[in-house]
Amino acid sequence: MVKLEYIWLDGNYPTQSLRSKTKVEKEFNGTLEELSMWSFDGSSTKQAPGGSSDCLLKPVFFVKDPQRKNAYLVMCEVLKADGTPHPTNGRATIEDDDNDFWFGFEQEYFLWNPSSNKPLGFPDNGFPHPQGQYYCSVGTNNAFGRDIVEEHLDVCIEAGLNVEGINAEVAAGQWEFQIFSKGAKDAGDQIWIARYLLERIGEKYGVSINWHCKPLGTLDWNGSGMHANFSNTLLRTAGDKTVYDKVCEAFRPVVKEHIDVYGADNHLRLTGLHETASIHDFSYGVSDRGASIRIPVATVERGWKGYLEDRRPNSAADPYKVAARIIKTVKSVGL
Ligand code: ADP
Ligand code: MN
Ligand code: MN
Ligand code: MN
Repeated sequence: MVKLEYIWLDGNYPTQSLRSKTKVEKEFNGTLEELSMWSFDGSSTKQAPGGSSDCLLKPVFFVKDPQRKNAYLVMCEVLKADGTPHPTNGRATIEDDDNDFWFGFEQEYFLWNPSSNKPLGFPDNGFPHPQGQYYCSVGTNNAFGRDIVEEHLDVCIEAGLNVEGINAEVAAGQWEFQIFSKGAKDAGDQIWIARYLLERIGEKYGVSINWHCKPLGTLDWNGSGMHANFSNTLLRTAGDKTVYDKVCEAFRPVVKEHIDVYGADNHLRLTGLHETASIHDFSYGVSDRGASIRIPVATVERGWKGYLEDRRPNSAADPYKVAARIIKTVKSVGL
């Protein structure tokens, strides 16, 4: 017997949550075609009214489930009963059928103590040392929750996800993992499966994962982002600064359209402090971590061949919607 965990995004607004349920099959030989459509009660996930509650699950990506015997994790798109994409289905809005767009997402998050409602590393009363000592740190007074982070890295690698690295972040209890893929849909699939695995490891430790972009509010602690590093053939081969200027300038008139899908409450995070640009401004620059879009210095050193980093998407953003919007804007340049 094989356990197939069908995973999808629900209708929570403004931030969709992960849902999943198990389908047991006699055998599975490891091809997408074998995975049949399934359905769920959309009235329990804010995706349908009770009177006509069926929503469809269309498998689109799967990996081995390293934490369960004889099992796979199956990422699904949600369709309406008539087979068309549900309005909550961001993946279906990505226009990248030839996988020309490569994405590297840097997913930040906080490990969170549900009983104290504070990050790991925060005492029940008061505060730990101000931030400064936690980024890429080691040691009992600096790095909190490493067991969880290490276990997550191992299962991601075992599942075959293309994790490129992990690091402790600037705030206490805050961490990051990076995932890269040659293909926008695939990058989104991998981020969602990695989030799912992290949530499930958290259950074991009684630690929750806080995806909010500014869980410590206005206090002097960094928020969480999900920087979107992206390229297409144009950016990878340009060899010309003016191409980069044109692509970056294409983002300027559509700031609102981008911010709309860059995650809830981003005004709390994009303040112009803590390595962010103000939500009201648009800027880009080489090596500039205070800009909306950073041009990595390596891109310039390779003679304007490489990628861009949009630093505005936050930790709770849907990578599908982020990628879909970036692709739309880059394509609007018409080069
Ligand atoms: P930093 O923390 O300095 O912003 P990271 O090393 O955490 O950088 O992340 C950089 C990301 O950029 C990685 O996920 C990497 O895969 C991605 N990346 C590198 N080259 C490209 C490219 N050509 N297209 C898209 N993403 C890329
Ligand atoms: Mn990073
Ligand atoms: Mn980071
Ligand atoms: Mn970054």
